[in-house]
Amino acid sequence: MKTPPEENPTTSLKDVDWSDFRDHIATAEQDGSRKWVYPRQVSGRFFRWRTWFSWLLLVIMFAGPFITINGNPLLMMNIVERKFVVLGQIFWPQDMIIFAIAALVGLTGIVIFTAAFGRVWCGWACPQTIMMEMVFRKIEYLVEGDAPQQRALNQASWGAGKLLKKTLKLAIFYALSFLVGNVLLSYIIGWQALYQIITDPPGQHITGLSFMIGFSLLFYGIFARFREQACTFICPYGRFQSVLLDENSIVVAYDHKRGEKRAPIKREHKFAERWQAGLGDCVACNQCVAVCPTGIDIRDGTQMECVHCTACMDACDNVMTKIGAARGLIRYASLNGIERGERLRFTPRLAGYCVVLAALMSLLAVMIFTRADAEATLLRAPGSLFQQMPDGHFSNLYTVRVVNKTSRELPVELRLESPAGTLQVMGGKLVVPPEKLLENSLLVELDSAAMKSGTTPVVIGVYSGGKKLQTLKTAFIGPRN
Ligand code: SF4
Ligand code: SF4
Repeated sequence: MKTPPEENPTTSLKDVDWSDFRDHIATAEQDGSRKWVYPRQVSGRFFRWRTWFSWLLLVIMFAGPFITINGNPLLMMNIVERKFVVLGQIFWPQDMIIFAIAALVGLTGIVIFTAAFGRVWCGWACPQTIMMEMVFRKIEYLVEGDAPQQRALNQASWGAGKLLKKTLKLAIFYALSFLVGNVLLSYIIGWQALYQIITDPPGQHITGLSFMIGFSLLFYGIFARFREQACTFICPYGRFQSVLLDENSIVVAYDHKRGEKRAPIKREHKFAERWQAGLGDCVACNQCVAVCPTGIDIRDGTQMECVHCTACMDACDNVMTKIGAARGLIRYASLNGIERGERLRFTPRLAGYCVVLAALMSLLAVMIFTRADAEATLLRAPGSLFQQMPDGHFSNLYTVRVVNKTSRELPVELRLESPAGTLQVMGGKLVVPPEKLLENSLLVELDSAAMKSGTTPVVIGVYSGGKKLQTLKTAFIGPRN
């Protein structure tokens, strides 16, 4: 029988129960140091499909900054200039509400997807998994060999061979990290700005160059050293799992009903004899553990560290094929699927999530399609009150700011709609350059007959091409009676 962990009298905390996999992470040694994971190379149908899919995503990721729609990038998150482009549509800080709704739609989508299909995203589409498992890990296998050779190399004393391999790997890893860092930077500032940083004299772009080096070192640190710890410690998505998954969610799962009781297979034994002897299909070969990049044993059940990379499914399928058993001892399945043979069900919880998602998507669509091409704000000119003109009229001075959200020049006309009076834009016509903000002064004149004592409400229409874009309301200050 398992003895309970002892109380630590100095801290009143329980000591870690190292015999219980849920009491510690798989990559921690008992002295607290990190257990380096050496996953074995894997082959199989899932790995093949993931490889093809990864290539597609990598092409999209690296080509993304150069793809334009209507002259705008596919995706750009320019935090510096507070300008954001999604699918060629420019969004400004004034559109933050749209962004907030879009973020909610994304979050709800993730919740629904995870509740139904577990962490499929992590295994198939997450940039961290793709870069780590499909790019950096493959290079490591090429340079240092499979897991046993890597382990032996790390334990060997330093010599010419080890130095050469480690230097070569470091150089390739750093070059790739530099590339990835630059791609990320071009998603932030655009590839044209990045090109300028690269081609201009270094002194002109100290900040940009610092970011280039910083991002390169960050990615090098993640892919060369931090690795699976990014998924275990940093990524919040893995933590969400415990509240999002239920017994109907599809996850990478070990079929314990079929696999247990596990025992090595003997050459002379037939499967029927194993079953008669009360043994299951798991031949305790540990191949599923050997290939796992997060160092866990999926036979213990669904775990936070599992990124659904499908390596254990391939490894086990290969073993099953070799011993003449059906594939799928480890497969995509739900707990109910394994225990009761149930298929994926559309549960009331999923239905509720879908209703919320549909409502948010409709709201988002309405907001995007009714979004004005320009947005104007009107402020009183600082330090000004009112002036009386020689003809007896009163005037107020304002500052108008117009943001052009389109990629073309936008002529804007301001009309005083109430009360009766005149409106004059200083410097003539307002033509806002594409994707820019224009600031100008505005003089409003009212006849004293149209004014109220103290402040008079004023309504100004913002027009472009004869179409009303916005209504601005402000106060006109005049003398008190
Ligand atoms: S690979 Fe399959 S057979 Fe081998 S230990 Fe894992 S589950 Fe059992
Ligand atoms: S348990 Fe399987 S699917 Fe999960 S991370 Fe490990 S190898 Fe990948």
